[in-house]
Amino acid sequence: MAYTETFWMACDSTESTRAEYGPFATRAEAEATARRLRFGYLLRYEHVMEEQDEIQDVRSIFIELGEHPIPLPLPLQWHTRCASCGLSAIHDHSWQAEVWADIHEFENQRHFVRLFERRDDKGLREITHWRQQSA
Ligand SMILES: [Zn+2]
Repeated sequence: MAYTETFWMACDSTESTRAEYGPFATRAEAEATARRLRFGYLLRYEHVMEEQDEIQDVRSIFIELGEHPIPLPLPLQWHTRCASCGLSAIHDHSWQAEVWADIHEFENQRHFVRLFERRDDKGLREITHWRQQSA
């Protein structure tokens, strides 16, 4: 009796030059990874196996990921906002916020940048005393 083995890959396009990541046993795992990597597609492989574990046939199906079928928690983000002029920016990493603040305060004398973190949907929380003020 032949049987079918199914596994999933995350991939960034349907081109032959695509990047793939996997394999995963379940679609949910592949989808979570695809979203983390900002890949737009899943690839489902079906191996039709013979009794002696020989692959008889391979089918592959691309599935384009929709906008947000599986809600994922928002990643931690860092928000910087200048208390003096109101200029603001959003960063993925705290060190980027620090570099942004360094440059802004270097280019604009006496400006003071405040830092906020945003986790999930709890809104912004200010990180006080995040920089040593060199007055
Ligand atoms: Zn400023």
